[in-house]
Amino acid sequence: MRLSGGRWTWKLSRAMRLVLRRCRAWRRGHKQGWGGGGGAGELCSYAKLLLRSLYYNSLTNSDTLLDCAFEPVYWIVDNVTRWFGVAFVSLVVLLISSVVIIVYTCVLPVILSTYPAPWIVWHLFCGHWLLVMVVFHYYKATTTHPGRPPKDKSDVPAVSICKKCIVPKPARTHHCSICNTCILKMDHHCPWLNNCVGHLNHRYFYSFCLYMMLACIYCSVSSRHMFTEAYNAIEVSPSPPPSLRVVPSPPSFTFRETTAHKAIVFLWVLTSSVAVALGALTLWHSILISRGETSVERHINRKEIRRLRELGKVFRNPYHHGPLTNWKIMFSVEKPSDWVTRVLLPSSHPPIGDGITWDCVYTRKDPMAI
Ligand SMILES: [Zn+2]
Ligand SMILES: [Zn+2]
Repeated sequence: MRLSGGRWTWKLSRAMRLVLRRCRAWRRGHKQGWGGGGGAGELCSYAKLLLRSLYYNSLTNSDTLLDCAFEPVYWIVDNVTRWFGVAFVSLVVLLISSVVIIVYTCVLPVILSTYPAPWIVWHLFCGHWLLVMVVFHYYKATTTHPGRPPKDKSDVPAVSICKKCIVPKPARTHHCSICNTCILKMDHHCPWLNNCVGHLNHRYFYSFCLYMMLACIYCSVSSRHMFTEAYNAIEVSPSPPPSLRVVPSPPSFTFRETTAHKAIVFLWVLTSSVAVALGALTLWHSILISRGETSVERHINRKEIRRLRELGKVFRNPYHHGPLTNWKIMFSVEKPSDWVTRVLLPSSHPPIGDGITWDCVYTRKDPMAI
């Protein structure tokens, strides 16, 4: 036994001595339980008991052990996501800028010179409206803080305490390990925004996804004929080696024309791919909004539905007010004209409510069962 070499070592050796002493006393009283398995068996039993004595916790279960085992993985993922957030935002800005530059330099001149006047007006109006909506909502989604519970108030209506922030957690609030803080009505942490999506920026996030998807569909559909021509031009333009050259030789393009062809192919492939990916994401979030759920609550509610079904009960989401009302709450629509001014136009109005207290449908009943 080491009695020197630091307080921790001394405390540990003392704890081990105590445990061994208790083991011996317990063994004297329960000799038949140990079965006289010899020195190795006894040592193994002592070691097991010692370990259990040091690490035993009445709240420990297999989930806690699994969480502990994966803790280093979570730490790496959190830090990588935090660090890559800046790179992801830069990538989004770069890709949006590249699409805008290609549209202005390669697509718009063709539209202006070849399309009839009504189509020119339509493309100018639709293209610029979508551009403004995408840029506005992306800027607001990345720069607006999602909202955190107040730390200086003691009368916050809370449903639990965050064990990491040590602050009361209001309903629908969850801790984000990447932002390292609690977020009001947390939906998820978005690396493409380098920000959490929560109570104060949920509308900006959803509007960005929606308008970005619409803008990609618009670009993809509008440039489809130009894409076919550019793709065919690229297919015939590379000069084969002299030994394989056939007559007649393919039409030659200038460097400017070749660059424009490649740019249009890039534009179409990028916008079509993003339209499909964002279409699936927007559809998923539309379903969640119609149900009055966030992404985090979807996981929690799914488990709760299964648990209550086994008990013969039905789960009811207390934040579901009906699909139309859920959408009105999402966009803060209070009168019919708000659908235009607050949904179809850029608007920085705040969301309904403070994100701390929530109007529940089943406040007077047990929300978990009928
Ligand atoms: Zn927290
Ligand atoms: Zn976060």
